Amino acid sequence: MQEREILDIFIKTGAYKQGHFKLSSGLHSGSYLQCALVLENPVIAERLCVALAQKFKAQEPDVVIGPAMGGIVLAYELARALGARALFTERDDTGKMTLRRGFYISPNNKVLIAEDVLTTGKSVNEVIELLRRDSITPIGVTSLVNRSGGKVNFGGIKCESLLNLSIPTFDPNDCPLCKEGLAIEKPGSRK
Ligand code: ZN
Repeated sequence: MQEREILDIFIKTGAYKQGHFKLSSGLHSGSYLQCALVLENPVIAERLCVALAQKFKAQEPDVVIGPAMGGIVLAYELARALGARALFTERDDTGKMTLRRGFYISPNNKVLIAEDVLTTGKSVNEVIELLRRDSITPIGVTSLVNRSGGKVNFGGIKCESLLNLSIPTFDPNDCPLCKEGLAIEKPGSRK
């Protein structure tokens, strides 16, 4: 799939919006991504994940793992395309990333980490750390969207996304959109 076609899908489903947004980090931005809206249609999700899976097919991952919530659907659909198991990590009461529900990864498994959007890579780094405790180095990191403009990296671990964007963010005190007097929206999933 071409990036243009993929971007069109994101715009049509409302997953990629333009305007003036307050992000969960507190920063302002002229664009907002909500990947849940592109993944809510299983036919679209399957198409995107088949395309994304191609980038890792040669490495033959047998586990795809995504941090909850953003990585769950993506990991599941990628696992289907790659013939792998689909796992997810979640935070315990103290906020620590953990593997629960009886999920098990063997040190011989080839593990691919999946996240919907890469911004700073914080959650992915926590999953990498969790795997390293069991002496597992993931074979790759993947996401539907990398919005960091290529800045995010995972210490030499292969990282491939379907859509690579560079979306500027602004300090609320120095935001050109605020200066234009544009009304601000506060989307997001964090409470
Ligand atoms: Zn602003």
